[in-house]
Amino acid sequence: MARNRPRAPITSPAAATVFSTVLTRGPVTRVDVARRTGLSSAAVTKAARPFIEAGYMAEVAAEERTVPGAGRPASPLDIRAEREFFVGVKITGDDLIGVVTDLRAQVHNAQRHPLQSRAVDSVVAAIVNLVRALLAESQEFLERAHCLGVAVSGDVDRASGQVRYSPFLGWHDVPLAELLEEATGLMTTVENDVKALTIAEQWFGEGIGASSFALVTVGAGIGCGLVANGALVTGAFGVAGEIGHVPVADGGPPCHCGGVGCVEAIASTHAIVAQARLAVGEPELSMDQAVARARSGEETVRRVFAQAGHAIGLGLAAVANLFGPERIVVSGEGLAVYDLFDQQIQESFARQAFGSAARCGLAIRALPFEEWARGAAAVAVQTMFAPESTRSRQHAGHLNT
Ligand SMILES: [Zn+2]
Repeated sequence: MARNRPRAPITSPAAATVFSTVLTRGPVTRVDVARRTGLSSAAVTKAARPFIEAGYMAEVAAEERTVPGAGRPASPLDIRAEREFFVGVKITGDDLIGVVTDLRAQVHNAQRHPLQSRAVDSVVAAIVNLVRALLAESQEFLERAHCLGVAVSGDVDRASGQVRYSPFLGWHDVPLAELLEEATGLMTTVENDVKALTIAEQWFGEGIGASSFALVTVGAGIGCGLVANGALVTGAFGVAGEIGHVPVADGGPPCHCGGVGCVEAIASTHAIVAQARLAVGEPELSMDQAVARARSGEETVRRVFAQAGHAIGLGLAAVANLFGPERIVVSGEGLAVYDLFDQQIQESFARQAFGSAARCGLAIRALPFEEWARGAAAVAVQTMFAPESTRSRQHAGHLNT
């Protein structure tokens, strides 16, 4: 089926700014948008008009003015969230998690498909099947979804759509966005998974209104995304905020990165299991068993989790001391066992954070796995509403789904 490109009327950086302000802050009056963006009211009105005409934005009923003589009440602008749907897919080593979201990244449909193989062709075919299955749930999805976001761990170059290196998949230099665009007909953006989650948090979560914040993920790896002055920090060489490889234990366990005593070498799920096995002398101990034994009060195993919490707390303090974010969100599948290292995270952070850096709030919470796919969808939302001039990869017209 031939598809048309989305016709989001982004013609200038001002249009993108107005749209993203209404998206993240709406309902909001034009005057308020002008105040927040530094644009004139006339420029806001001009930028908003094409969005209203195309159905992405609407004026909502104004609240009655209570002050007599205050003039005509201003009608706030808001997003029509279901004007456009987005598909987000997270690729893990073992399966695909996919969601359909609306413009505000609210999840309308979610599915999980196992991966039969990690070969590129096979993963691309599996993603195409997943996308079809997700969109087939509703005629509205089929008609109004034009963009796909894909999140992968590892070294990902969003601008060119390449997965440069993914350790879990064993991929090098895979032009994933191009392959998926051809196969699905959807405008495709590929992003590192932690960066994708950070964008979702920045636009639709705890990061709203914060000019700087950090997102730290705890699980199979220890990841971190940084936002400074409202923009994702990408690093001059594509690496920034690698809290997982901050050394916190001189002479500590070796890390897969080649370093020693890294946070990840102590606090990743794999590291915790390895240390718990050593501590109890049982080489077959599983993570679930380690958790159960720690919760039942077995001191040697409890200590392993406490050391992991300590390492994470020191890593968070390093982020606060170097970068000074307004807040740090700590999330990830590893936090399902939060009760086992909560106290050490908080204590080690408080002890090591320097002066006022400790004032940054720590929001610690579990991360349902579909959140990773929602992050991928948020990247697709962001791409669709980036000004045409900032999209460095030329997107072809829509092909066949
Ligand atoms: Zn390391």
